[in-house]
Amino acid sequence: MWSKLIVAQAALAAAIPFVSRNPASVLYDRGTVAGFATPIFACPASSWPPNTIGKTNGPQPPSADLASILAHVDPGRIEATIKKLVSFGTRHTLSTQTSKTRGIGAARDWIHAEFQKYADASDGRLTVETVGYVQQPDGNRVTFATLISDVVATLRGTDENRLYVVSGHYDTRNTNILDYEGDAPGADDDASGVAISLELARVMSNPKYPVPKASIAFVAVAGEEQGLYGSQFLAQTYANSTPRVNVEGMFTNDIVGSPKGSDGIVDPHVIRLFAQGLPPLAVENSSKRESRLQIGGENDTPARNLARLIKEVAENPETQMNVSVVYRLDRYLRGGDHRPFLEAGYPAVRFTEPREDFAHQHQNVRVENGVQYGDLIEFCDFDFIARVARVNGAALWSLANSPGAPTNVRVNTTALTNNSTLYWGPPLAGEANVGAYEVVWRTTAAPFWTDVIDVGLVNEVTLALSKDNVVFGVRARSKDGSRGVAVLPFPAA
Ligand SMILES: [Zn+2]
Repeated sequence: MWSKLIVAQAALAAAIPFVSRNPASVLYDRGTVAGFATPIFACPASSWPPNTIGKTNGPQPPSADLASILAHVDPGRIEATIKKLVSFGTRHTLSTQTSKTRGIGAARDWIHAEFQKYADASDGRLTVETVGYVQQPDGNRVTFATLISDVVATLRGTDENRLYVVSGHYDTRNTNILDYEGDAPGADDDASGVAISLELARVMSNPKYPVPKASIAFVAVAGEEQGLYGSQFLAQTYANSTPRVNVEGMFTNDIVGSPKGSDGIVDPHVIRLFAQGLPPLAVENSSKRESRLQIGGENDTPARNLARLIKEVAENPETQMNVSVVYRLDRYLRGGDHRPFLEAGYPAVRFTEPREDFAHQHQNVRVENGVQYGDLIEFCDFDFIARVARVNGAALWSLANSPGAPTNVRVNTTALTNNSTLYWGPPLAGEANVGAYEVVWRTTAAPFWTDVIDVGLVNEVTLALSKDNVVFGVRARSKDGSRGVAVLPFPAA
């Protein structure tokens, strides 16, 4: 008979210093490979093929403005926001919307008022709106007609129709998903995410910083626990606008309140970032999917390349964080507010704490066998949440100051050759801000871009490197050095 083996990790000490795990620091040295100064067999297999063009693709350090923004993210403000949100007792989506002190309606109005304070101090840069609709009973988690409201604060950028979205959900739940009266504090799930939207809006809308090129929407949505309703409404509102809103990236922060798992292990300098592979078929039709599979492009979807860019710009001494990218939509059995954006055809990813404590989410507040259950504020780590906010801030500010992504990126496949010819068009709205285009690549088995070559202001390049052996991406860099997301070239039609 089979027996079960359980292998447990020892708990680590609580005080763990930040040690960068950025992959750029462990790449092989190109000089030694090109000149065979070290024995070639010492090179990891993933470093083949050796090449002499381009250079190592390193991280992008924060600009002076961004470093200042990150320094102003305040764990004390984050704590105050979570404390206030918890004070509404429950924020269940079906809870009261008429009380001034309890329930989701009071929480919504407080979030709106808080964003409005930042808007009032922003010199007209930040505008706040509460939008929503009435969700009819769905035969599942919504048992009566319910107003679902999203609070959206938008920092208007200078480019036409470019938007990044950062979101958390302000609704909460109990053990019983339909219990809308019992206390459901939701400190980690997901006041922590809402606190990040608020804190970044406060800091980034400060008139001492330049207005970004792209707009940024700082969002708190409702209805997540009842079926992602608030996020779905917002994604559809953007997608169905005329013209369609060009959401270049969406992040949801959901359960980002603590680095400590139920096993007692603490990872204070790690945040997980979930990024989906193949987009839904409704978004990418079967012939595009066939082409994607043919060229091995299933790991280079817009969401995955968004995640790679986030990792490049958000792992640094200013954030004190390593971004652990997980190549899947979400954790097992779980879902989140990035999904409706992916279904609307937008690149979207999810931040979640490195280890979860399931006694502290989706549980009635109670003590059982000496164990405290419930999503209580005492289990939140505000310094950790501030670091996660800085990861979001680094990514948002870099992306919003980038030119966006090149369009119609193609690889020439009309003849068999060991060279590769790539061509592309300018980003939709950010062309005036393009300082140069860059071609990035990695071997097909490598997770992140390892190499980059600056090709200048051109729209076609031929590289002495075979497209059969590496994955290419083309990205635009702004005049002040902010990289946009890389785009996988498809075979030219
Ligand atoms: Zn959640």
